[in-house]
Order: sequence, then C-alpha cells, then structure tokens
Amino acid sequence: MPAGEPRSDVALPVRAYVAIGANLGDAQASVRQAMQDLDQLAQTRVAQRSSLYRTAPVVSGSADQHSGPVYTNAVVALDTTLPALELLTQLQALEQAAGRERPYRDAPRTLDLDLLLYGQSRIDSARLTVPHPRMWLRAFVLVPLAEIAPALVSPAQLDAVAGQGIERLA
Ligand code: ATP
Ligand code: CA
Ligand code: CA
Repeated sequence: MPAGEPRSDVALPVRAYVAIGANLGDAQASVRQAMQDLDQLAQTRVAQRSSLYRTAPVVSGSADQHSGPVYTNAVVALDTTLPALELLTQLQALEQAAGRERPYRDAPRTLDLDLLLYGQSRIDSARLTVPHPRMWLRAFVLVPLAEIAPALVSPAQLDAVAGQGIERLA
C-alpha cells in the first residue's frame, strides 16, 4: 500500500455523545461510576465529561405518575470504534448491571444511558434512533452537552429549554 493512503482495514474512532441520568439510590455515585465504566468499554474511551447537574424529574407520559426524586445528569463524549448498535448493547448492559428496571414509562431509574449522537450518523432502526429524537427538548441534555461541545448546541436551542430547572453541582 502506498504511503499516505488511508488503510481501509483499520476503523477510525467515531466521536459519540452519551447522556447519563440517575434518580434512585446514590445517583451522583451512579453517574460517576457510569463514566468510569464507559471508559472501560472495549474499543472505547471517554474523551470528555461534563459536570454533574441536578434536574427536576420530567414526566412525558401520563400526568399522574410520580417520577420520584431529583435527577443527576451528565453528558460524556466517547471515542469508539464500536458500531452504533454494539455501543447501544453495551450501554444497555451497563444499565442492567446497575439494576435498571422499567416498570412504566419515565419511571425512576438507577441508571439511564442514552446515545445522543454517533458521529454524523443518522440512524432510524427498531432499537436505535440517532440523533436521540428528544434531546433538543431537554435542558438536562443540552446544558451538559453545550458545556463539553459548545459548537453542537446553538444559543437558540439553549434558549428553547431555558425555563427548565437545572443546577450545576459543585
Ligand atoms: P427517552 O428515550 O425518552 O429518554 P427512556 O430513556 O426512559 O426515554 P428507555 O426505557 O431507557 O427510555 O429506552 C427505551 C428504548 O429506546 C430502548 O429499548 C432502546 O432500544 C430505544 N432507543 C432508541 N434510540 C435510542 C438512543 N438513541 N439511545 C438509547 N436508547 C434508544
Ligand atoms: Ca432517557
Ligand atoms: Ca434510555
């Protein structure tokens, strides 16, 4: 192979962004642990991590369900050579290991890991939609994402969620 040509047999890492949320147990510890566990995933390293944030629970389903205690949220940037669906499988395995149960929509959770962005990819499959379809509605996603990747979130997008309560933890 001539020098200087890209090798087609070596996958280049993709920059992906993952939202982390928890509101059961020691939620801050769960979020910090998840950041460490993500860094330990095969073919993956955490390139950037946001501060931790406190946010009020959001209920997008029926109004009479109690979503429980305040959330701890954060966003990390990953560099990974895992394919997107394989990354999702690994995120779900970490949720399971943290004791995640899904009794009903928007139920309190020990750990929620959402794949926000996977490079420039647009994915629409049964298991995975990327970019995450609800990310632009959520201060608890956009504020930490803007902290580590300001070019990805416009001022207008931040303005649109400015009414939602979110507080950066020291
Ligand atoms: P929301 O997606 O509104 O944040 P949620 O995180 O509470 O809600 P879950 O119960 O954690 O929802 O996930 C439901 C399903 O969403 C998962 O089984 C997964 O296959 C699917 N899914 C689709 N796109 C994504 C994505 N980008 N990241 C994570 N899960 C996704
Ligand atoms: Ca979620
Ligand atoms: Ca999820």
